[in-house]
Amino acid sequence: MTDTTPCKHEHACVRCPMLRIDPGQRQRLIEITHSLTDRIKEAKSNGWLGEAEGLQVSLQAASKKLTAMDQARSRSKTQITDLGLPQIRQF
Ligand code: SF4
Repeated sequence: MTDTTPCKHEHACVRCPMLRIDPGQRQRLIEITHSLTDRIKEAKSNGWLGEAEGLQVSLQAASKKLTAMDQARSRSKTQITDLGLPQIRQF
């Protein structure tokens, strides 16, 4: 088997800066943030402070990706990208 990326997780960690989430998976990302919030509460109530801190980093990354996804979607609805006109050159 050949690796497609140098990362053995193939950039699938929610906190990975290389991860680009399919906008169609927005609801799944929301579920992940809810799950992380619940797990942070559980970790804190059990005194697992290191675990809670790690989960907090993942929650911040997931929230950031959700915000970026929403901003990209609203930008794409309101902005038109000018690609210019093609020019014919004589050689
Ligand atoms: S954060 Fe990204 S590069 Fe690092 S292990 Fe996770 S997926 Fe791989």
